[in-house]
Amino acid sequence: MAMQKDILNRYLFDNLHARGEMVNLSQTFQDIVEAHDYPMGVKKLLGELVAATCLLTATLKFEGEIAVQLQGDGPIGYLAVNGNNLQEMRGIARMASETDATTLKDLIGKGNMVITIRPTNGEPYQGVVALEKDTLAECLAHYFEVSEQIPTKIWLYTDAAASQIAGTLIQLLPDSESKEQQLADFDHLCQLTNTIKTEEIFSLDTEELLYRLYHQEDVRLFDPQPVCYKCSCSEEKCISTISQIEPSELESIIAEQGSVSMTCDYCMTTYKFERPQLAQFIDGTTH
Ligand SMILES: [Zn+2]
Repeated sequence: MAMQKDILNRYLFDNLHARGEMVNLSQTFQDIVEAHDYPMGVKKLLGELVAATCLLTATLKFEGEIAVQLQGDGPIGYLAVNGNNLQEMRGIARMASETDATTLKDLIGKGNMVITIRPTNGEPYQGVVALEKDTLAECLAHYFEVSEQIPTKIWLYTDAAASQIAGTLIQLLPDSESKEQQLADFDHLCQLTNTIKTEEIFSLDTEELLYRLYHQEDVRLFDPQPVCYKCSCSEEKCISTISQIEPSELESIIAEQGSVSMTCDYCMTTYKFERPQLAQFIDGTTH
């Protein structure tokens, strides 16, 4: 049986008071990078960030979205992925200069990771950590250490040449067990998860892989959730941005270019607006 791609699996370790997630992506990743001509190292890091964002959004206990941004002084000044609780993902890398670098440090340089969580109903909140570790997975571990009280670990796998990315997460559930026992359980699960081989995560289906890794534990696997690429740009959002521009400036753009056009950085879709569509912003609404 062919292995299922573009799905997120969640499971519980009933006897260890922990939860796990595993994501395996192919088409979603291809769709995100398709409209762009990224060098391989950039593609790989963006892929890792997509997998990580899938895992993070799956930890949300409410409807909402997460944006994970890496910003620094390296050849990629900015790398961002947005995902929501429906597992709709989009991502972008902005190149400050051409690069054939492959490591996080060489690509982003000195910088930060900013994680913004926006509940559909509620106030957004943000966490920031310096990118001081060698890999994205280690930076995420650092983020959890400083910003969350719950022990959490993420592993990321890429085969960017074959357009495949994957990731897995282990997180303790807060409960009544002693702290010491909880940490011992967490370490135990991390050690087992460390043994995943890249070729296994890309070739075995989830049930088989979970059995290989954790067959001595009670693992309860839930129904998988599909993951897809979806850009959240729209004509309405463009109009809303345009409404912030000074009328005189809009008038001069139209005089020069005949229309106002905006291109989405993520999906490269161009939205074009003629003067009649923008009349309310140029002439004012009262006339
Ligand atoms: Zn878009």
